[in-house]
Amino acid sequence: MSTITNRQYFFQHLAQTSDKPIGIEVASAKGIYIKDVKGQSFMDMIAGFSVCNIGHSHPLVVKAIQEQIEKYMHVIVYGEFIQSPQVQYAKALLQLLPENLSAVYFTNSGAEATEGAMKLAKRVTGKTRVVSFKGAYHGSTQGALSIMGDEYFKNAFRPLLPDTLQLRYNNIEDIELIDDKVACVFVEIVQAETGVTPAHKEWLIALRKKCDDLCVLLIADEIQSGFGRTGTLFAFEQYGISPDILLLGKALGAGLPLGAFIASQKMMSTLTHHPVLGHITTFGGNPVSCAAGLAGLEVLVNETWIQEVVEKQNILVNELIHPAILQRSYKGLWMSLQFSSPELTKKIAATCIENGIITDWFLFAEDKIRIAPPLCITIPELKTAIQKIIKSIETSL
Ligand code: PLP
Repeated sequence: MSTITNRQYFFQHLAQTSDKPIGIEVASAKGIYIKDVKGQSFMDMIAGFSVCNIGHSHPLVVKAIQEQIEKYMHVIVYGEFIQSPQVQYAKALLQLLPENLSAVYFTNSGAEATEGAMKLAKRVTGKTRVVSFKGAYHGSTQGALSIMGDEYFKNAFRPLLPDTLQLRYNNIEDIELIDDKVACVFVEIVQAETGVTPAHKEWLIALRKKCDDLCVLLIADEIQSGFGRTGTLFAFEQYGISPDILLLGKALGAGLPLGAFIASQKMMSTLTHHPVLGHITTFGGNPVSCAAGLAGLEVLVNETWIQEVVEKQNILVNELIHPAILQRSYKGLWMSLQFSSPELTKKIAATCIENGIITDWFLFAEDKIRIAPPLCITIPELKTAIQKIIKSIETSL
């Protein structure tokens, strides 16, 4: 019998995404804590990359999953049967969204929501040009990669989709480059992977206006900024605008895989005809994922965590201070800390792990540490985490 350990097998036989994965061997996860197989406990200060906004394995989510799997799991491809968890979750989401967002298409992931929205925009407008922004991340599939705002990550995979254009984020002049040949503009309300870059209010309003003037669809990617992370359920609520299509993922499934693109019923109907089955998926809207997501949303709405985000943000702002931090950028319970080099940032992240704090850097900003704890983190826990991060910075210099 083979005596190979899980760790050895992971490195030898599971496809690796980088040279140095964090490599914690997980035994369990509850609330803001992840325990490894050696019994060490870690505070999860990135919430599984903004997925576990209500913490890991919330009891009401676990209960909803258990109840659903007793009834049924996968029964058929998306869109054929009436499955109560999908219906109930769509109803709960739409009640919290502007009226124009009236039909939900559930997908498997955030990237698939991006793909679906891109296809939807082509059908609705009859145009093909897709605008996005430098520094944007909308997923890793080829369509989503085509609108990514970073040449380094795209170049190895060309040719990608034609007729895409990346403008400068938060740049008013670049909005003028949008013309009536454009089908849609993808925008993150807070650009995640450059290190938490919030949209300027006047810029986003001008972008909305330009899209309105030219009948261009505005697609808001709230896959990472959604579900309370910035202090409101969705970040766009703070800008007085509403998108034509909304992309959701990550926290949408409360720990199970789920994504969605949401638009008007009229728009969505274009995926039903000529051709029929304009976007299809086997597992999108899996009933167990939808039951989990609905339970998670109910927790978020009933708790006071979203209302507490600003207070917790201010604690980070006032207490997460060190001379080695060159710059901080934040929106809600979501912050980046910039250091003098990617090497130092990686050293600090590794020291944080040794000190029981899970953190990481950003896809397009390797010199910035990511702070995005579950929203349920208590103030004493937050203060403990801040102290440990400061200690980790101190010992890494
Ligand atoms: N959009 C944004 C803003 C994201 O942060 C991500 C994932 O990190 C995605 C899209 C893609 O989501 P997924 O990884 O579920 O495909």
